[in-house]
Amino acid sequence: MPDPQLLCHRCGAILTTGEGSFFVIKLEAFADPSPPNFTGLSERDLLREIDDLIDDINEMSEQELMDEVYRKMTILLCRPCYLQWIQAPAG
Ligand SMILES: [Zn+2]
Repeated sequence: MPDPQLLCHRCGAILTTGEGSFFVIKLEAFADPSPPNFTGLSERDLLREIDDLIDDINEMSEQELMDEVYRKMTILLCRPCYLQWIQAPAG
């Protein structure tokens, strides 16, 4: 069975393994891990904040929650796409 075809995630070019002609990019994204800042809130506001938070969480699916907190993916880019992308990875 032949290997599944690898495609550049940007331009769709067919990538050939073993030729050093493409790049593997591993992305790991986290939500800000510091605890929410509740200082300066009265006890009543604080309880309301927590209520809101629980409401938000209840409305989200497990997958959505996971995506919010942590996301990991691998993308493949052909050489020309990589060279463009790496200039402005967040662009
Ligand atoms: Zn490409």
